[in-house]
Amino acid sequence: MDCLFCKIAAGQIPARKLYEDDQVVAFHDIGPQAPVHFLVIPKKHIPTLNDLTEDDKALTGHMLHTAQRLAKEQGCDEGFRVVMNCNELGGQTVFHIHMHVLGQRALHWPPG
Ligand code: 5GP
Ligand code: ZN
Repeated sequence: MDCLFCKIAAGQIPARKLYEDDQVVAFHDIGPQAPVHFLVIPKKHIPTLNDLTEDDKALTGHMLHTAQRLAKEQGCDEGFRVVMNCNELGGQTVFHIHMHVLGQRALHWPPG
């Protein structure tokens, strides 16, 4: 499949990986928007949040727990942000779902 994040998950394209298990991979974003900015992706190819099914509940819960644990490991104990963009209108550019985890700087809301 011609999907960038499937290739990163499979090790076919290099990435600075933080964590990997049988379900998820976490790696540093290539264009960091904060001192800490990594992505958590499922190994399963799911194009957008609109494609989630009931069967993905445990997987997406695992992604969130992974994000929380790694944020702490990256020194973001005092606060961090988790973002998921859905489709072009939501700012999505890579069509394999991913959680952005940003931290180590003051983050404001709304983001603009
Ligand atoms: P989106 O806009 O889809 O929510 O976020 C996609 C993210 O993937 C962007 O923050 C972008 O910097 C990151 N990204 C795109 N290509 C690569 C890549 O080849 N390697 C890594 N590590 N990150 C990438
Ligand atoms: Zn994919």
